[in-house]
Amino acid sequence: MTLPADLHMHTPLCRHATGEPVDYARHALALGLTEIGFSDHSPMPQDDFDNWRMLNRQLDEYAAKVRLAQKTFPQLAIRLALEVDYLPGHEDWIRQLATRQPWDYLIGSVHYIGDAWDIDNPAKLSEWKKREPFDVWQSYFERLTMAANSRLFEIIGHADLPKKFGIRPQQDCTPLYEKFLTAAARAGCAIELNTAGLRKECREIYPSRPLLQLAFQKNVPITFGSDAHAPEEVGMDFTDAINLALCAGYTECCRFEQRQRKLVKF
Ligand code: ZN
Ligand code: FE
Ligand code: FE
Ligand code: ZN
Repeated sequence: MTLPADLHMHTPLCRHATGEPVDYARHALALGLTEIGFSDHSPMPQDDFDNWRMLNRQLDEYAAKVRLAQKTFPQLAIRLALEVDYLPGHEDWIRQLATRQPWDYLIGSVHYIGDAWDIDNPAKLSEWKKREPFDVWQSYFERLTMAANSRLFEIIGHADLPKKFGIRPQQDCTPLYEKFLTAAARAGCAIELNTAGLRKECREIYPSRPLLQLAFQKNVPITFGSDAHAPEEVGMDFTDAINLALCAGYTECCRFEQRQRKLVKF
């Protein structure tokens, strides 16, 4: 079985990851991967927005680190990308970011469901006590649907991130998934199978099997990502992710070069 590309990994510039891109690349080669992509957390218009992303002036340094990895390991396809936070009103900022480097793809992720609550931030776990889980799911999927509709991104990141800490609503979330996936299908946007969820309290790949099955029915393509924040996490649990994808009916995933999509068998 050929391993699919790992299109989601970070660098120390985001201030909560370790290891240089060359170290991630070395690990990928040892695992037998043939393609990886860096997608570190994008800068915000204001550098003091939060403390878990690169600063504006570091964008070129980020690209240089990835290019060094490309030069060091020419036998490995290494893509240059970003994990961009989608916030309503940031569309012009994101369009501008898109022109600053020749990105291979952009991952659009929702972490913030308001201006100040990043729902996956362990330091803000107490916020969950102030809200009904279903309200969080609704706000999150509303933004995720907007992110897909914006057509700013090739991939939507960790599509059911609110489950991270294992807090789940009682209500049926299928209508929220339906709406989001219809938007993704219409926009030609892929979703990722992100194995980081297996390393969190929810102990489950993002997205869940029901969400992925719906995605397959709606013809939404997929990518694979470890969301590695350390070199040892590259390609982690990809066999689980491949099995989940196969169970949902998928046999192909996407690769990206210069924001052009190609489908490949995995
Ligand atoms: Zn991160
Ligand atoms: Fe993320
Ligand atoms: Fe990430
Ligand atoms: Zn992420």
